[in-house]
Amino acid sequence: MKNREMQTVKTDVVVCGGGIAGCAAAIQAARSGVKTILLEKTVFPGGLATSGLVYIYLPICDGYGNQMVHGLGEELLHASIKYGPGDIPENWRSPEPKMMNQRFFTKFSPPAFVLSLDELLEEAGVDVWYDTLLCDAETDEDSRVRAVEVENKSGRIRIEAHCFVDATGDADLAVRCGAEIIESTNLLSIWAIEYDKNALEDWHKLAPELGRIVINQKDPQAEEHRGISGAGVSRFIRETRGFVRERYQTALKNGANRNDLFPVLLPSMADYRTTRFIKGKMTLDSSMSKMSFEDSIGMIGDWTKPAPTVELPYRILLPEKVRGLLAAGRCISVQGESVELTRVIPVAAMTGQVAGYAAALSLQKGCMPDELPVEELQNELKQQGFILHK
Ligand SMILES: Cc1cc2nc3c(=O)[nH]c(=O)nc-3n(C[C@H](O)[C@H](O)[C@H](O)COP(=O)(O)OP(=O)(O)OC[C@H]3O[C@@H](n4cnc5c(N)ncnc54)[C@H](O)[C@@H]3O)c2cc1C
Repeated sequence: MKNREMQTVKTDVVVCGGGIAGCAAAIQAARSGVKTILLEKTVFPGGLATSGLVYIYLPICDGYGNQMVHGLGEELLHASIKYGPGDIPENWRSPEPKMMNQRFFTKFSPPAFVLSLDELLEEAGVDVWYDTLLCDAETDEDSRVRAVEVENKSGRIRIEAHCFVDATGDADLAVRCGAEIIESTNLLSIWAIEYDKNALEDWHKLAPELGRIVINQKDPQAEEHRGISGAGVSRFIRETRGFVRERYQTALKNGANRNDLFPVLLPSMADYRTTRFIKGKMTLDSSMSKMSFEDSIGMIGDWTKPAPTVELPYRILLPEKVRGLLAAGRCISVQGESVELTRVIPVAAMTGQVAGYAAALSLQKGCMPDELPVEELQNELKQQGFILHK
């Protein structure tokens, strides 16, 4: 048997996972002037927001009329409707928004968002590797990540970089680096898009006859549906898609016409909300929601209701022990009720952008992300309009 030698590629920053967090991280790192590779196992950018068909960009405000998420979190909100439907309340379009009851959010067409994300990645100069699976990682004796291994049409490739961002949503890179993680439970969920000729008027619809199917079920076998095993993911997909099939079986049995009611798009990734998180240098939970942190990277609102804002510390992006690695998006170090606030699209964009800045800055300073003078990172964020403290 012949063992082929693995090709090695060198870059500055590798972002694993091209969901909203990964796109934001890669765009920011590239805009900061460092060579950036973005790895994505599907052929779409956007993750759950596009491949998962979760087409509501939740509010970037606090519900009292104040904008909380700035920078790429706001830029991507506007990008989500650039080539498709969706409305942002008129007041929020002006540079100085006024107090208002309507929240700052929108629905969007997932394929339209794919087009604008492709455009932003291209303009920033990100080297995007689609159809590429992160397979493994190499760490040294100081637990610093040195390289990742990926598989794609060219075979197996090793990529060396100064630092890495885990934006896989499921902490897949952190796990491969031997980092400690926190596991979670999850609902059996699926979002899909359907054509319904007789649809009632509903804000969520993309067009009068084009709406969403949302199915959420408590999981009777939560242990097996946490999204952390290959078999579990396949089963989750089969079962959730089965719910959609049952919906049409019932409708047809009840006299529906298959020309008037049918599925148009099914998600091309499993709709997992939470699977696992990194165990960070700090883990945010709801007992800390009123706290102020010296290393705050910004504030977020509560998408479910007008509520006091919460500061996010930089430490929730840093794994406790593994070095040269940042987490972004839904796998940052959070637990309990705080997860509900952080696991959404605008916060994924925000933590992604911070991770991208931190990765670029650490390269420019010749240090690791956990050694970064946090004030310098905060100064960059303030220039983007981030509000750090209450
Ligand atoms: C059912 C459901 C409903 C939701 N509703 C809303 C909503 O209405 N509004 C809202 O704002 N948020 C909602 N959310 C949450 C939100 O969609 C996500 O939390 C957010 O989009 C997460 O972004 P992310 O980039 O962190 O992760 P993801 O979107 O999960 O992106 C991770 C990316 O990494 C890639 N990846 C993973 N592993 C690998 C690997 N090994 N190699 C290469 N690539 C890899 C994946 O393909 C994916 O593209 C919902 C989520 C679910 C599941």
